[in-house]
Amino acid sequence: MRHASITLNSAALTHNLNRVINKIPEKTQVLAMVKADAYGHGVRHCVPGLQQADALGVACFDEAKQIRDLGWQKGVVLIEGVFSQQEWAESIEAKCQSIVHHQNQVQWALENLPAADSPCRTIWLKLNTGMNRLGFEPEEIVAVAKTLVDAGYSLILTSHFANADRPDHPSNANQIKVFTDALTQLREQVDDHIKASLCNSAGIINFPECHFDWVRPGIMLYGSTPLESISAQELQLKPVMTFSASLMAIHNIAAGAPVGYGSRFVANRPIVKGIVSIGYGDGYPRVVDGSAWVTVKPQPIEADSDNSTAAKAAVSYKCPVIGRVAMDMIAIDLTEVPNPTVGYQVTLWGDPDKSEPSVDEIANSAHTLGYELLCRVTQRPTRVVI
Ligand SMILES: *Cc1c(COP(=O)(O)O)cnc(C)c1O
Repeated sequence: MRHASITLNSAALTHNLNRVINKIPEKTQVLAMVKADAYGHGVRHCVPGLQQADALGVACFDEAKQIRDLGWQKGVVLIEGVFSQQEWAESIEAKCQSIVHHQNQVQWALENLPAADSPCRTIWLKLNTGMNRLGFEPEEIVAVAKTLVDAGYSLILTSHFANADRPDHPSNANQIKVFTDALTQLREQVDDHIKASLCNSAGIINFPECHFDWVRPGIMLYGSTPLESISAQELQLKPVMTFSASLMAIHNIAAGAPVGYGSRFVANRPIVKGIVSIGYGDGYPRVVDGSAWVTVKPQPIEADSDNSTAAKAAVSYKCPVIGRVAMDMIAIDLTEVPNPTVGYQVTLWGDPDKSEPSVDEIANSAHTLGYELLCRVTQRPTRVVI
């Protein structure tokens, strides 16, 4: 059998959620972001590890329905809001709360008021504080809020940072000021019970004074770093995903011989080359530069289980990825591995505590972020939950 597998560590997810919970005030609630199929992990595998969250955040109603179908009873929030009047009605039916960021959505909310005891009587009202992506302007927020409150809605004022990953970026202080000024104004002029939510993962870490009533962690729950210059390991986050495959062929390559498409890699000395059953068709990025590496463990893939002492004690070898990444295969340099054997386990990304590359390290080699690599793993690898 071709081995390409994604192992999901549910305990790591719970650990990371607890890292969030321990950072925030007791009154602050957690909206755990599970959009894009839980950042590529598979939402059905992740919901069990997120039971302590107060609500789950998704990008669209289809994602919300999936969560309801999994039996999640607590809050669900559509973080882009609804896309039509009909979807507004359906979201009320499914008891999903919505962000309202645009006049159309205000209109739909006014035309179809949920029952007094429905969670949908609370609206997440989006303010543009400077990211200039979504939301009402500070000049119009009071009028919009007043219309909604007069109609019977409760509000959570919300906004999103553009540069929370870089704490000293000047836009952060600006956005915080615009947000707190608007909040003060709304509480004075519209409703003094209006709640607030500003922070994503990076904001939770960098701006503890801005936790307000709800935080919205995403990437840190999955054990990838939200920050530019601090690793997930330093933040004591544990990777949820281990991406692995196995050695399927081994060859000796003479000095001067090319390897793979485009003959991009040319051996400058005789090497032992391994072919691994993973490629961009599984979600391994084609664009990695020469710094990408994998961990080779002299054991079959089946032997890996997070808690087996054998797996932890096993020696492992750091092997560079060589040549172009293909759809189904990559080549690695096995020269340093004693007696390499077909079937040995290869980890593409996983736990740096087990001498495996972190997803953030490979993202760096691919000139992108852990976010993108996690979201882009395909349905082809088999998923195993431990
Ligand atoms: C995705 C998202 C988050 C989570 O962001 P992370 O950087 O992954 O923590 C928070 N809020 C909104 C509005 C989002 O779209």
